Amino acid sequence: MIFECPKLSYELDALEPYISRETMEYHYWKHHQTYVNNLNNLIIWTEFENMSLEEIIFESESGPIFNNAAQVWNHTFYFESLWNVDNNKPKWWIAQMINKSFWSFDDFKIKFSDMAVKNFGSGWTWLSINSNGSLEIVNTSNAENPFKTQSKPLLTIDIWEHAYYIDYRNERAKYIENFWNVINWDVVDSRI
Ligand code: MN
Repeated sequence: MIFECPKLSYELDALEPYISRETMEYHYWKHHQTYVNNLNNLIIWTEFENMSLEEIIFESESGPIFNNAAQVWNHTFYFESLWNVDNNKPKWWIAQMINKSFWSFDDFKIKFSDMAVKNFGSGWTWLSINSNGSLEIVNTSNAENPFKTQSKPLLTIDIWEHAYYIDYRNERAKYIENFWNVINWDVVDSRI
């Protein structure tokens, strides 16, 4: 299978002023594209060649093929979670689930932001549904995602420095604060 960068449903400058066009140009067209290219090169003539992305992530477990496959999946999931509208808040099922698990949306925001700020090094912070059916916030390192713990991801924030350094330099907390403005809650809701 030949993998490609997924088509975005928004323009590269659509997330401004929270995430700049320049960040998107680097993040989407350079970083994400590099993971896609690496993966395509690594799987040629291997047992992974005809597998889906999810199958490659499950079967490879670690090493360069896992790292690039998981990064392709994580970035696709991240970019598909974004848009830019006013008064951006969860609705429907996801709003109810957040209230049930974290008391209120504001309490959830504080907890998720705190986890993301404290996620040491490069990685991802996730909102996912665990095997008991309740929401949880999980930190992963490098390319890891919640697949291995059988939990179902609903939302993620990329906290690798390349995701925010152009716009926020070393201020990860500011990037996380602004991330709340560009979450596509309809997409998050549809993943339940
Ligand atoms: Mn990234």
